[in-house]
Amino acid sequence: MEKTDFLLIGGGIMSATLGMLVQEFWPDAHILMLEKMPEVARESSDAWNNAGTGHAAYCELNYTPAKPDGTVDTAKAIHISTSFELSKTFWAFWVENGKLPDPKRFIRRVPHHSFVWNNQNIAFLKRRYEALKPSPLFREMQYSEDRRQVSTWLPLLMNGRQKTQLVAATRMEPGTDVDFGALARAMIQTLQQNQEFTLRTEHEVRDLEQTADNRWQVKVKDLAKGETRFVSAKFVFIGAGGGSLPLLDKAGIPEADGYAGFPVGGQWLRCNNQDVIDRHFAKAYGQAEVGAPPMSVPHLDTRFIGGKKALLFGPFAGFSTKFLKYGSYFDLPLSVELDNFIPLLAVGWHEFDLTKYLVEQVTQSFEERIQALRAYFPEVVPSDWQVEVAGQRVQIIKHDLKKGGILAFGTEVIAARDGSLAALLGASPGASTSVKIMLDVLQKCFPVQWASATIQTKLRTISSWWGMALHQDPKTCNRVRAASSLILQLG
Ligand SMILES: Cc1cc2nc3c(=O)[nH]c(=O)nc-3n(C[C@H](O)[C@H](O)[C@H](O)COP(=O)(O)OP(=O)(O)OC[C@H]3O[C@@H](n4cnc5c(N)ncnc54)[C@H](O)[C@@H]3O)c2cc1C
Repeated sequence: MEKTDFLLIGGGIMSATLGMLVQEFWPDAHILMLEKMPEVARESSDAWNNAGTGHAAYCELNYTPAKPDGTVDTAKAIHISTSFELSKTFWAFWVENGKLPDPKRFIRRVPHHSFVWNNQNIAFLKRRYEALKPSPLFREMQYSEDRRQVSTWLPLLMNGRQKTQLVAATRMEPGTDVDFGALARAMIQTLQQNQEFTLRTEHEVRDLEQTADNRWQVKVKDLAKGETRFVSAKFVFIGAGGGSLPLLDKAGIPEADGYAGFPVGGQWLRCNNQDVIDRHFAKAYGQAEVGAPPMSVPHLDTRFIGGKKALLFGPFAGFSTKFLKYGSYFDLPLSVELDNFIPLLAVGWHEFDLTKYLVEQVTQSFEERIQALRAYFPEVVPSDWQVEVAGQRVQIIKHDLKKGGILAFGTEVIAARDGSLAALLGASPGASTSVKIMLDVLQKCFPVQWASATIQTKLRTISSWWGMALHQDPKTCNRVRAASSLILQLG
C-alpha cells in the first residue's frame, strides 16, 4: 500500500493550487496527485471549457443582486473582488520566485464591461455603479449612457445597433482573461520538481474509507494497466470537479448528507474570423434571462489561449446526465440516494423557471443561438461562428428545512469534522478564487497549524496585506493592485 501525507484527487486548478500551498507551508510533506485522464487540467479548468474570466465582480451583474428596497447589495462583489486580488498576489509571488512561468502564458489584461439595454436594466446598472464606485476595489469603474463613448469601448456591440435603442455600459480597465488550464499545468510542473510530489495520470479513484487510525484507505484503478491499487493518506482533498460529489458520497462523512448535484452542460459560439476577433478587446457581460442560472449570463469575450487572441459568446446551457465532460451518462442516476432524493425532487418542483429555461436552451437551433448573439453583436455573420463544447458544471442541491431542497450557486467546501478530508462542490466564481478557497480548506482542516507563527509569517511574506480589508483601505488596495499588475505584466 502506497502511503502519502496529502492525497489530491484530480489534477485541475483546485488541486494544483492546494499542492502549491502545501509545498509552501509544509515543504517536507509528501503529496500524491491522482488524475484519471492521460493529462492534467483537461476538464473544467481547460481553457475552452470555461470562460477564462478573472472573476473580480467588475462586470457580472449576478454578483450584485438588487435588495427588496431596490438598493444594490455589494457584499458578494466585494468578497469576490478581494478574493481575486488574493489570487493575483499569490500568482505574482510565484512568478517572482520562478515557480510560475511568464505570466502572459496564463493571464492578460482585458477590460471588463457590463452592457445593458432597456430602461429597467439601465437604471439597475447605474445604481450598481453608484454603489460600487466608492469602494477602492472598483475605483476605476466608468459608467456611460453616451452611445459614442460606449462605441469606443465596444465597437462590435454598437455598430449596426438601432439608433433609438437606449444602452448603458460600465468599464473596468483592470479586468483580466485567465487561461486556468495553462496555469494549472504550470503549477503541477513546478510541484513535480519537488521529490516529495508524485503525479499519477490515468489513475481513477473508485472508493475511499476511513480506517481506525483516522487515515483514509483509497481504492484506485490504474486505467493503463487495468490494476487496482490502494493508497493510505493522512489527508484527502477531493478536487475532482464534477466528479467530487460521488466520491464525497463514497467517503460517507455525515457532513455530506443531503447533498445532490444537477449537471448543466455548456456550449459557446466561437468566432473563426480573425478580422472580427481583432475588432473586439473586452469582456462584455449582459443581463441574464429570467430563470437562467447565474452562470448563464451571456457574454462576448476576448480570450487569449495558447498565445492567440480568440472570441467567444455564450454560454448556452445544455443537458447531459454526465458530471464531467469526459464522464459517464450514469453519473446523475447513480448519484441519487435516500438522503438526497427529497432535495432533488424539491428543486425540480420549485425551480420551474430554471427547468423552463433549460428546456428552451437545449432545444435551441444554431440559428436561434446566432439570434441570441445578434442582440449583442448586431452585424454578426453566422458563417464566422462555430459551436464549441464547454465544461460541465454540477450545481449543488442541498437539503433545506422549509423547501425540502434548494439550488446553491457558488462553491462550497465540505470538510470532515476531524479535518482529515475535504471536498469542493459547485462552480462559480470557481477558478478565479481558487487561492482563497484552498486557503479556507487548510484553515478549516488544520486549525492548529494554521494559527502557528510559521504559517502566519509565511502568509504575510507572500501577501503583505494578509488580514487587511482592501475595500476599506484605498492606499493598500492601490499599492497591492499596482504591485501584482507590475509582476503579472497587466499594464
Ligand atoms: C462553462 C463554464 C464556464 C466557467 N467560467 C469560469 C470563468 O469564467 N472564471 C472562473 O473563474 N471559473 C469559471 N468556471 C469554473 C471553473 O472552470 C471551475 O471552478 C474550475 O475549473 C474547477 O477546477 P477543479 O480543479 O475543481 O475541477 P476540474 O478542472 O474539473 O478538475 C477535476 C479533475 O479531476 C479529475 N477526476 C474526476 N474524477 C476523478 C477520479 N475519480 N479520480 C481521479 N481523477 C478524477 C478530472 O479528470 C479533472 O482533471 C467555469 C466553468 C464552466 C463549466
